Amino acid sequence: MTEKIARFLNEEQPPTPCLVVDLDVVAEKYRALRHHLPLAEIFYAVKANPAPEIVRLLNDLGSSFDVASTAEVDLCLSLDVDPARLSFGSTIKKARDIAYAHDAGVDLFAFDAEAELRKLAAAAPNSRVTCRLFVDNAGADWPLSRKFGCDLTMARDLLLEAADLGLIPDGVSFHVGSQQTRADQWDGAIGMTAELLDDLENRGLPLRNVNLGGGFPARYRDAVAGIGTYGEAIMHAMTRHFGNRLPTMSVEPGRYLVGDAGVLQSEVVLISRKSYGDERRWVYLDVGRFGGLAETEGEAIKYRVQTPRDGEPTGPVVLAGPTCDGADILYESAGYEMPLSLEIGDKVEFLATGAYTTTYASVGFNGFAPLKQYFV
Ligand SMILES: *Cc1c(COP(=O)(O)O)cnc(C)c1O
Repeated sequence: MTEKIARFLNEEQPPTPCLVVDLDVVAEKYRALRHHLPLAEIFYAVKANPAPEIVRLLNDLGSSFDVASTAEVDLCLSLDVDPARLSFGSTIKKARDIAYAHDAGVDLFAFDAEAELRKLAAAAPNSRVTCRLFVDNAGADWPLSRKFGCDLTMARDLLLEAADLGLIPDGVSFHVGSQQTRADQWDGAIGMTAELLDDLENRGLPLRNVNLGGGFPARYRDAVAGIGTYGEAIMHAMTRHFGNRLPTMSVEPGRYLVGDAGVLQSEVVLISRKSYGDERRWVYLDVGRFGGLAETEGEAIKYRVQTPRDGEPTGPVVLAGPTCDGADILYESAGYEMPLSLEIGDKVEFLATGAYTTTYASVGFNGFAPLKQYFV
């Protein structure tokens, strides 16, 4: 919790649940990443938090943007982002959406399948294309990659075909999984990429760029290494696998840039036990799985939780949301404890909730409004 956020919550007393984002933290994270990976072009993954305030700030700082829909293209363009700095990084696109983006000036698209490549050749002729590789996501608290990417042999064939189809093969991308807790996890993916680029060069197709994806972590319950450790591990892997013939690099951070910048404040609605002898209390809050905390699915993302009574003796709790859905439980097995003195009406804050929250909130399940967001 930054001083600015604490002051805002204290002075404004906004209705809960709400998210407060400190834009200074977003700027700090951007500069830190820039500092530790100076050779990489930064594409902010807009889906992490598409608030215009954030896109505008990052645009002013010189960021490029990774988008996945025509609405995200429109959002960026409406905020004066140069379309040449947009990458349509989703590998699953309708042909008419590709055409729309291409007409708007977007010139860089990702694919991981032949059918998608053919759509690109037809709807975005002459554009630059990136093939996404399937890579190991071990160590990621929110893995992605079973859904995306193709293997090396297929990637090689598709990139050669891309050139035959009149597209401009730009490079290779991968994503080592979101909230990647192991900085060394990029090494294997970079090694595969080097092998592929070498193979393609021997076949007369030199590629320019390696897109290292996202995955840089926010600080949740468990400590994570700093961005310097990630930058070093990546540059070490790049020089180990490419020697002194480094390709250009891109990164697509989402969670890292905005996660730590947000605090979600909620209120305790009910504290109860399921039987007289139960040690464990159920703490029901006015925010839950459907109010923005969707990444508690499988208790995968474990947010740090603050109460006004921290420091007092604690006991085990189940944390749950307010809706009439049995799936609306945040944490039951992750071992959360809260002060025994906690009372109905107390404010409870979830830290590092700036990423993947506001847009994951339902539009009005059970009549609860989507998560409101403030900027300081
Ligand atoms: C979501 C996404 C990202 C951002 O991932 P983080 O783990 O939030 O950094 C980057 N690239 C692509 C293609 C994505 O879909």
